[in-house]
Amino acid sequence: MTADADIVVVGAGPGGFSAALKAQRTGSSVTLIEKYDMPGGVHTSGLQGSANTGVGGIHTELMEKFLAAGCIYTATEKTHSDWAGNPLSHYEKNLEPDAKFIRSSFDPSGAGHVMATMLEEAGVQVMYRSTLVDVDLNEGGKNSSIDRVIVENASGQTAIKGKIFIDGTGTAELAARSGAPFVRGGGPQPETADWDGECRPIPGGLLWIMSGIDFAKVAAYQKSAKDPLLSKLIEQARSAGDIPPDLYRPRMSGSGVYGDYYIGHPTLDLSPIQADGTYILWQNVPYEWELHMDDTAEDEARADEVLRSFVEVEAQFLKKYVPGFEESYITNIGRFVGVRDGRHPIGEYVFSIEDAISGKSFSDAVTAPMTKTFYWDGFKSYSFEIPFRCFLPKTIDNLILTGASLSFTYETIFMVMRNFPWCTQTGEIAGYAAALSIEQNISPKKLEWKTPYF
Ligand SMILES: Cc1cc2nc3c(=O)[nH]c(=O)nc-3n(C[C@H](O)[C@H](O)[C@H](O)COP(=O)(O)OP(=O)(O)OC[C@H]3O[C@@H](n4cnc5c(N)ncnc54)[C@H](O)[C@@H]3O)c2cc1C
Repeated sequence: MTADADIVVVGAGPGGFSAALKAQRTGSSVTLIEKYDMPGGVHTSGLQGSANTGVGGIHTELMEKFLAAGCIYTATEKTHSDWAGNPLSHYEKNLEPDAKFIRSSFDPSGAGHVMATMLEEAGVQVMYRSTLVDVDLNEGGKNSSIDRVIVENASGQTAIKGKIFIDGTGTAELAARSGAPFVRGGGPQPETADWDGECRPIPGGLLWIMSGIDFAKVAAYQKSAKDPLLSKLIEQARSAGDIPPDLYRPRMSGSGVYGDYYIGHPTLDLSPIQADGTYILWQNVPYEWELHMDDTAEDEARADEVLRSFVEVEAQFLKKYVPGFEESYITNIGRFVGVRDGRHPIGEYVFSIEDAISGKSFSDAVTAPMTKTFYWDGFKSYSFEIPFRCFLPKTIDNLILTGASLSFTYETIFMVMRNFPWCTQTGEIAGYAAALSIEQNISPKKLEWKTPYF
């Protein structure tokens, strides 16, 4: 056994990071286990790097620290005059041309370093390059509890004991390995003409970064050639055998919740990051392939292989065919293909889309009503509270969920709660709840939650 802490957090994404930090700052001893070499999860190791205005608590602290460390890059209509309404823009494509916008991003490596320093300063014991592989349970009563988790790292397999455990894996891996109930990713899907009625997970994605791009030149080409989607260049490259059919796939759209955001990828898809001339690009798993990268090694390997090959082919296509990319080069590729729709644990309460729409009140609300825009639903805004029971998986007494692993139905977790600000907030709540449980020497399921935290 290499560690024995009050609280053991598995996964150091936005959820696990802020849970560990809050619990340690509240007086508990915390061990944080992370597979990769820095905290931040999809947003650092996975390169997502989406910066937002602070929403309070650790999220605001993070945004301020990233800014002070020079990690934030902000694009506006002044720096990117042809960006608003441009169909190549991942986020701003639906704006009116010349509309005002602010697109802030953080440098993934710099931000990961800031987060690592914060954990170190707080005194959290972090085990990087350590992967959760198993769980030992105390069984016997109606419910079970986790006794220790087994992790694999350079020392081989070691056990880490704790009183309270927090699942910050982003795919509910700790909950699943503990035997807590969950549903796999894959909800109702768009009803297109060729839809076969099957439910598939929202596709995962690999993010990568290119520098040396002259976007003004790209935009000038789009206008002069009347080729806003670069379709003419894509066709030319396809005829020459320079790109495979799956690289730029037609979008699927319909009445389903995912709209046209991730299902299909008909053209270049990018967003400014880090510095002038540098952009992040997306490659999504073909939706039809129905890959479950969170629980199937073959699917994970297939996604890695195909998306890396798409990155290579796309980079060569852009350099050879698209004006403005002549001097471009790849500067970074995500460490993994990010999972958008992993396991969804069944908690003491499962938050549904009806709860969000009706603005249901909960006696154990951890947040005051929050207003959020559901962009799959015509960009309507709903105001809703979140009950603490969504943090508590059924059947395990000393486990708390957080981030993308909360007990939410897929539409609610996917469209709203999995974003960086809210994962940081729910992580902070999970860490606070764990520390209170230690202080009061009770199971998190016995905590009385009377006042919203945020
Ligand atoms: C392709 C993609 C694009 C996205 N785009 C956006 C966006 O534009 N804006 C936005 O706000 N959000 C976006 N998201 C969503 C957001 O990134 C995630 O929902 C959020 O990062 C979830 O936070 P988390 O802390 O729950 O998990 P994650 O960020 O997934 O972090 C989980 C951490 O746990 C670690 N881990 C996992 N398993 C183990 C294990 N067995 N042992 C040890 N460690 C483990 C991982 O290495 C990782 O560091 C995107 C997600 C994806 C996949």
